[in-house]
Amino acid sequence: MQLDPNTGHPVVRARLAPLVAHVVALCSDHDIIITWGTDARGAAGYMTFHGDPPITKRVVWLRYIKSDIGYWVAMHEIGHCLGVNSEHQLNKEVNAWQWAFHNSIIPPTPQALRRILAYVSSYLPTESGLEWIADLKAEVEKVDGPPAP
Ligand SMILES: [Zn+2]
Repeated sequence: MQLDPNTGHPVVRARLAPLVAHVVALCSDHDIIITWGTDARGAAGYMTFHGDPPITKRVVWLRYIKSDIGYWVAMHEIGHCLGVNSEHQLNKEVNAWQWAFHNSIIPPTPQALRRILAYVSSYLPTESGLEWIADLKAEVEKVDGPPAP
């Protein structure tokens, strides 16, 4: 596997290159460390580095970006670092997706919207979270038609 020395990410086909570059640039601009991996699911958190004094930095763990979905998951994890926080898990997730939508350089495909909808629907409901999910469902139905009964 050939890694791009500028991104630490495997070389990708031309269509995906700007998406990888965008994720890398956002993290570099906001001092977020990227840990690329092939097996880890996306996650966001903190890492403390030994030193005097020790330094704590924000970290995102990301799968290599092989599709639009990979880009959306990466943007979502960055959204956990830079977006609005919440004490409710669903709201946290929704806020991170909203951040991703507002800051992305491509519009979400219907396929991406369906994946995101399935993902957020697995969390315990909150009022504002459910409102957002309903809006997202309406977006998906615009493309797919109403769900089969
Ligand atoms: Zn999340």
